[in-house]
Amino acid sequence: MTARHHPSDETLMAHAAGTLPAGPRLVLAIHLDGCRRCRDAVGRYEAVGGALLETAEPVTMAAGSFEALMARIDAEAGASEPTSPAPRGTVSGRPLRSVADAAPTAPTTPDGIPLPARLLRHRVGRWRRLGPALSWSRIAVAGAPDANVVLLRIPASGAAPRHGHTGREFTQVLAGGFSDGRDAYVAGDFDEVDEYVDHQPVVDADGECICIAAVEGRLRIHGIGRLLQPFIGL
Ligand SMILES: [Zn+2]
Repeated sequence: MTARHHPSDETLMAHAAGTLPAGPRLVLAIHLDGCRRCRDAVGRYEAVGGALLETAEPVTMAAGSFEALMARIDAEAGASEPTSPAPRGTVSGRPLRSVADAAPTAPTTPDGIPLPARLLRHRVGRWRRLGPALSWSRIAVAGAPDANVVLLRIPASGAAPRHGHTGREFTQVLAGGFSDGRDAYVAGDFDEVDEYVDHQPVVDADGECICIAAVEGRLRIHGIGRLLQPFIGL
């Protein structure tokens, strides 16, 4: 599966610099898991960032501040997304201590639709309906209660409500495909829009579409969907 739509250089750079918020970071990590091209780009940006650090003027640090910095780097490395899922039957590569530690190794929606391994650490809510054509499920992002990440599921030929945005929206297509008047997107593709984009995704006729989206700000839903907005909290 080769993606045709990739994150912007700005977004990949922000990821390399560690400045992407938790929601977009999770959606981007799912894209990176399946996209060699973007992984390589992030690697290049990280190398550039490292080189800049090495050539920076040395600064005099107060006693103990180096240890504090290293402790912080260790803590943040421990809190960041793992680069690959832990081997089956283990947690972080270590054997399970007891049955109580055992967690499912393949994340799914409550009704059993397989999801990317990257979502294993996060709680996936039940499907809720928004109108006849759209189901959505909130993902509780571990360690980031304010992150606004949802799964969106629309049947073949169904349409999402027409909407604009008050902030950025990052979407990774997990299954199926859609078009929104700007272009066509299929599984593996990444789409990012900002407050200047107003669109209505319409799903391809040959099957349902499931996406994961991180929404910053709020959606501006037009038409009848607007009445439902208070109930979905997006
Ligand atoms: Zn990519």
